[in-house]
Amino acid sequence: MINLPPEKLRDILLKAGVIDAQSFDELRIEAERKQQNVVETILSKGIVNKDYFYLLLAKSLGVPRVNLSVVKIDETALRLLPEELARKRKVIVFGEDEMTRKYKVAMEDPIDLETVDFLSLRLGKPIEPFLATEDDLNQGFSLYEQRLTEDFKTSIEQSVKESLRAKAQGATLEEAAQDIPIVAIVDNLLSYAISSRASDIHFEALEDGVLVRYRIDGILHEIIRMPKEILPAIVARIKILSSLRIDEHTHPQDGRFRYKIGGSSVDIRVSIIPTFYGEKMVLRLFTAAQKPVSLTDLGLFEDQVKLIEDAIEKTYGMVLACGPTGSGKTTTLYSILNILNRPEVNIITVEDPIEYDMRYVNQMQVNNAAGITFANGLRSILRQDPNIIMVGEIRDGETANISVQAALTGHLVLSSIHTNDAPTVIPRFVDMGVQPFLVSAVINTILAQRLVRKVCIDCIESYVPSKEMLASIEKELADLNVDPRSVKLPGTFYKGAGCKVCNHTGFMGRMGIFEILNVSEEIRKLIISESFNLDNLRTLARKEGMKTMFEDGLKKVERGMTTIEEVFRVIRE
Ligand SMILES: [Zn+2]
Repeated sequence: MINLPPEKLRDILLKAGVIDAQSFDELRIEAERKQQNVVETILSKGIVNKDYFYLLLAKSLGVPRVNLSVVKIDETALRLLPEELARKRKVIVFGEDEMTRKYKVAMEDPIDLETVDFLSLRLGKPIEPFLATEDDLNQGFSLYEQRLTEDFKTSIEQSVKESLRAKAQGATLEEAAQDIPIVAIVDNLLSYAISSRASDIHFEALEDGVLVRYRIDGILHEIIRMPKEILPAIVARIKILSSLRIDEHTHPQDGRFRYKIGGSSVDIRVSIIPTFYGEKMVLRLFTAAQKPVSLTDLGLFEDQVKLIEDAIEKTYGMVLACGPTGSGKTTTLYSILNILNRPEVNIITVEDPIEYDMRYVNQMQVNNAAGITFANGLRSILRQDPNIIMVGEIRDGETANISVQAALTGHLVLSSIHTNDAPTVIPRFVDMGVQPFLVSAVINTILAQRLVRKVCIDCIESYVPSKEMLASIEKELADLNVDPRSVKLPGTFYKGAGCKVCNHTGFMGRMGIFEILNVSEEIRKLIISESFNLDNLRTLARKEGMKTMFEDGLKKVERGMTTIEEVFRVIRE
């Protein structure tokens, strides 16, 4: 993030009229308190559009802005700087000016003169700095990573050969785990996973080998296969790292460890279970770089952001995020907490696990061994005079009832719940033993969501949808009881053709598709009425303007943000 003197930034924003002096000063104090960069705070609140902000900034700094998702990066120029240096300095050399022969460098902070001087010296001639965003720089970093793929495979194969040779000399499991080639294989798999933006690594024991898969943007990809003789030593290596018993092969084991790479570190949760052909391991990666993003960045449209903002302005009641595991509920809750995190409120959470460390939020980890469950954690929280409570998940009647009581007695409660859509949350609460009049009284807003992969902007192309596709969209709308005539179907669809940047998948990153049920007075009345059922709740919610996740997805398809296949895939999960 650019390091601009706050007075200068204040000047720029005030002049552009995007914020008034008082609000800026408040945000500045808030940023200091949260130890965030004030630019980050302003952007995460969606006060100014990111692109517009960078244009303003470039103009006032007198530096050109470069958008690396549009401008082609010259790979020869790129490789003049090693990746590590480029990452450390947050720069990408993306070309050479034909007239001046200066190197064109995209920089996160183009007024950092020390880096400008350093680069001129290192590259052997003057450079021309351009203002770039973090996204721009990531475009460049991902180009470095493509070469990594080839290096990764060769070096794993090399280590496997060496390890098999060493194994022939009869080492114990403990010795094998410390063996240099095994250490190298595990290091390689971990660092490659991190640079591939993987969230999980799966090691599967097959009859004739070991399969390694990464989950990237929610989808499992086969990465490499190795001879099965290697597996016991790799499992032992991971067990040593996470302080698990290496002689235990018949019971499941869970552990965790911290892995350091470059300047940052990643927390890794390990789960090992015995399977027929050997031990299966799943490593979940919690990258520390994960930070709360604005509701807009999550994929919410402006009118939806407004609904959420209104719901969390209340000092009591419940705001619920729902969807299956891996649908991004936790990220949404963290974004909301980040908005609510102000000096005058006491926020306490009980989570399983704590995925993101938030300054000034008191976070408690569920720990069954120590007797901390969602329900009794919540009870202790209530004795700590909180204003806002986040309960990681409501999955039983006890937790549901205590949460409802908390929400009734002047606390804003945020939580997540496993239901497929927003309206179903209401009967689910009743099923868990909460009285309908209480459900009706406490729930402010329910947000249902799924994550779709975003079309890669480097290889996006349009096409005309087939008649069959249009027919299945109409059928889906009909199944949702949406009059297809009320929805304008897009005439042009988009997809990623596949390119080097997206590793030939056509996708890059993920965003949410949402459905927001705002519990109005009419809906409250319906919940406690004799005639309540899911169908008439859906009908009323639609009448009041609720759009289903599928419709939200269609809107994103129309704008080329995702593909129709993605929307169908996640809707049917
Ligand atoms: Zn692409």
